[in-house]
Amino acid sequence: MPKYVYFFGGGKADGNESMKNLLGGKGANLAEMAGHPGLRLPVPPGFTITTEVCTYYYANKRKYPPELKAQLEKTLGMVEKIMGKKFGDLSDPLLLSVRSGARRSMPGMMDTVLNIGLNDTTIVGLIQKTQNPRFAYDAYRRLVMMYADVVMEKAEGIEPKGGKGIRKVLDERLGEVKREKGYTYDTDLTADDLKSLVAEFKEIVKDRLGKPFPEDPMMQLWGGVGAVFQSWNGKRAIEYRRIERIPDEWGTAVNVQSMVFGNMGDDSATGVAFTRNPGTGENQFYGEYLVNAQGEDVVAGIRTPAPINEYSKNDQSKHLPALEHLMPENYKKLYAMQRSLEKHYHDMQDIEFTIEKGTLYMLQCRVGKRNGVAAVRMASEMYKERLIDAPTAVRRVQPSQLVELLLPMIDPVAELAKTSIAKGLPAGPGGATGKAVFSSEDAVAWAQRGEKVILVREETSPEDVDGMHKAQAILTSKGGMTSHAALVARGWGKCCIVGCGDMEIAHDNKSFKTKSGVVVREGDWISLNGTKGVVYEGSLTLVDVDIEHNAAYMDFMKLVDKIRVLKVRTNADTPADTRKAVTFGAEGIGLFRTEHMFYGEGSEKPLFLLRKMIMSKTKEEREVALNELYPFVKNDIKATMEALDGYPVTVRLLDPPLHEFVPHSPDKMAALAQELQVDVEELKKRAENLKENNPMLGHRGVRLGVTYGEVTAMQIRAILEAAGELIKEGKKANPEIMIPVTCTVEELINQKKIVDKVYPEACAAVGLKKIPFLYGTMIEIPRAALTANRMAEVAEFFSYGTNDLTQMGFGFSRDDIGGFLPDYLNNKILPADPFQTIDQEGIGELIKIGIQRGRATRPQLKVGICGEHGGDPESVKFCHRAGMSYVSCSPFRVPIARLAAAHAALEEIAAAEKPAKRKPAKKIEAKKPAVKKPAPKKPVAKKTAPKKKSPKKGKKR
Ligand code: PEP
Ligand code: MG
Repeated sequence: MPKYVYFFGGGKADGNESMKNLLGGKGANLAEMAGHPGLRLPVPPGFTITTEVCTYYYANKRKYPPELKAQLEKTLGMVEKIMGKKFGDLSDPLLLSVRSGARRSMPGMMDTVLNIGLNDTTIVGLIQKTQNPRFAYDAYRRLVMMYADVVMEKAEGIEPKGGKGIRKVLDERLGEVKREKGYTYDTDLTADDLKSLVAEFKEIVKDRLGKPFPEDPMMQLWGGVGAVFQSWNGKRAIEYRRIERIPDEWGTAVNVQSMVFGNMGDDSATGVAFTRNPGTGENQFYGEYLVNAQGEDVVAGIRTPAPINEYSKNDQSKHLPALEHLMPENYKKLYAMQRSLEKHYHDMQDIEFTIEKGTLYMLQCRVGKRNGVAAVRMASEMYKERLIDAPTAVRRVQPSQLVELLLPMIDPVAELAKTSIAKGLPAGPGGATGKAVFSSEDAVAWAQRGEKVILVREETSPEDVDGMHKAQAILTSKGGMTSHAALVARGWGKCCIVGCGDMEIAHDNKSFKTKSGVVVREGDWISLNGTKGVVYEGSLTLVDVDIEHNAAYMDFMKLVDKIRVLKVRTNADTPADTRKAVTFGAEGIGLFRTEHMFYGEGSEKPLFLLRKMIMSKTKEEREVALNELYPFVKNDIKATMEALDGYPVTVRLLDPPLHEFVPHSPDKMAALAQELQVDVEELKKRAENLKENNPMLGHRGVRLGVTYGEVTAMQIRAILEAAGELIKEGKKANPEIMIPVTCTVEELINQKKIVDKVYPEACAAVGLKKIPFLYGTMIEIPRAALTANRMAEVAEFFSYGTNDLTQMGFGFSRDDIGGFLPDYLNNKILPADPFQTIDQEGIGELIKIGIQRGRATRPQLKVGICGEHGGDPESVKFCHRAGMSYVSCSPFRVPIARLAAAHAALEEIAAAEKPAKRKPAKKIEAKKPAVKKPAPKKPVAKKTAPKKKSPKKGKKR
């Protein structure tokens, strides 16, 4: 008979940690904590209904397997036995909680019901047993609220009247009673107040939802179980799964557990803690708690939680008593438990605990979410502490999390000059600037029209997830470091400030006012320093961080580099970008776009000469212009090559269609006409002749070199002489000449003749017998990939231009796809934007065919990628599997690509059953001292080229 219900408690458990797929993360961890001989923590007993039941439920028209009822009842009996109480008992009733628990944690995404088992008769027993009617009625009103919201409204799919859900209605009623009675806190409500509130609540529920609150405990329990399964397909859960890419088929488990109470008086408390600081990664026990409260109070952010220890104090909580002083014995036990949990799981744990009348219970533990900064620090330090080995450390950080370490922060100089308008808790690091919006819907709508927004809320709820995702940052007036906003932002690595009590949001939800009287209205710019938790008026400049001084990051990346096989280069066109990329670990340039030297600051003169060349009528005229242009091109290439200090530099010959360079302003036209000694009308005619209907498929790339061999010759001379001069100066240079937009080997042969002619001249010019270089091509036209065996007869290397290859492979214009891509994504016609992540099914096949055919001709063929995909983690992994030698991406993506390459190597080891097609990734033992890789010498550039913009419309760098 299939087993659908797994018991835990009293030092025993049917399941264990390895059963996450079946029991969900929470269920597996409860079983492990309760039953593992090395832990046996005081977990309130309970049971887990498996994810298989969820799958069954959805596959069978929302019915349960027939065996479930008997199994549940039998296991409930075991729980009753340990607790010494009976569910539904009139004198001492056992109360239960029902919680969801998917394989991967989905914080706040699914629903929980507490205090199940209370009704008008069992409450009498509870009062008698506890001698605490206030507590009992408080538990009862919470049950009615949660049950009505989760089971009777959400799970039933009832759309609340006027958009206001039952929980909000009941909450407002509670607020009214507090106001009527002149109370400040919920805790001011007396037993009688709560008793009549329960009665009122039930009336409201019946009235609004058309059904009475069920008194039968068993009905309550089944209602709760069903609601958890229903919530798996609730809007919030689906939304979260889409963002986090959690498969719909996984389903959730349901955890039913005995209630223990943190709200039984001043000897009771409840809290949330982390075995290390999830914001910074520091190895310090960190957490918050509330005396006389239930768990939801900590997370909901209604009361400011107190720190569990001195370390956890912050500006908002520094005046509150720490648990370590208030309940030292229990703190000591808690401290020991969290140490053993971290040691047991070899990872930072997020734990929930409750102290009921002086007895400590561990309610839950799970791997704690952390931001990128903390993830890197923890991985690096846990490796040093020998808690984990190097591959585990590397796997612990997702490539996209590294972005946070490279995140811009508010310019410290600009920040010094500003006075902050409010201060809150630093829940997500980095800086952000944007226009204040006050609802999730506005955040989505404003972001969709291209505005940068900061979402400002009292507190966030799972309904806000979409807006939170679209916003640059999140700012809440309530909530602690474990509130919903903080948890979600931390998971995403988003700048976030919570608990900003200095601001009060206006009733109309269109502005906020700070304590000092500053009013910020919807649409006003604000800036956040999420690392410090401070808010500024206006838009402050953001600057880059100094990554080289982050020791944890540097140590972590050493591990990464020891594991990866794929090399990582950068796409850079200026010495400044190149130097930045080298500090990020670039091992060469995979794409130097020559045309970029004609754009941006300082490009006026070379651009003028280029235009002169383009508008020349005869070859002779063109050669005059080319000779004038030559020194600019050579010096630009030389400065960048010098900054690379011997790492290879792939210089691509001129690619864009020439008309892109034609001047438009009358004075520029006049100046050019004068230079060429023709009238403006004649010049306009020449410009007109350069126009094409489909320039991206027109006279560009190698086609220019075929028509104007002298343009190729000048560039080859510049590359070879730049390299030769550096070598003469005792420096290193390794140029790779790359021909763009080729479709046949004949083009390569044609251009190679020019190279062969220029080469001896260049050697003579610099006084060298030979100048090292490679001759290769971009593969960016499908025909080139398909005829790669021929291309490799001449090309010594291939570099995949996946921007154009995607454009020509799909037939989607890379400049215009934005107009219809959302339709393709929304209708699931495409799984993702193919210009961002390689379409492995189609374009990926072209890449693989090209590599295979190319290497059939030339086994040592070097192959790389220089399209935008070179910095996308999934695409990098694909490139590793396809057997490429390197990926090349923009400087900021270099660390991300390095880590993705290491992950790819580890995945290859994990899939070792397949015969390795390539050199396997190096195996690293735990705590093997990292060997320093010879770092490239600090580059010294002669010229700092200005920032330049891409000449081709719509291209990203
Ligand atoms: C490409 O096509 O992928 C490429 C790198 O070249 P560009 O974007 O300059 O066309
Ligand atoms: Mg291209």
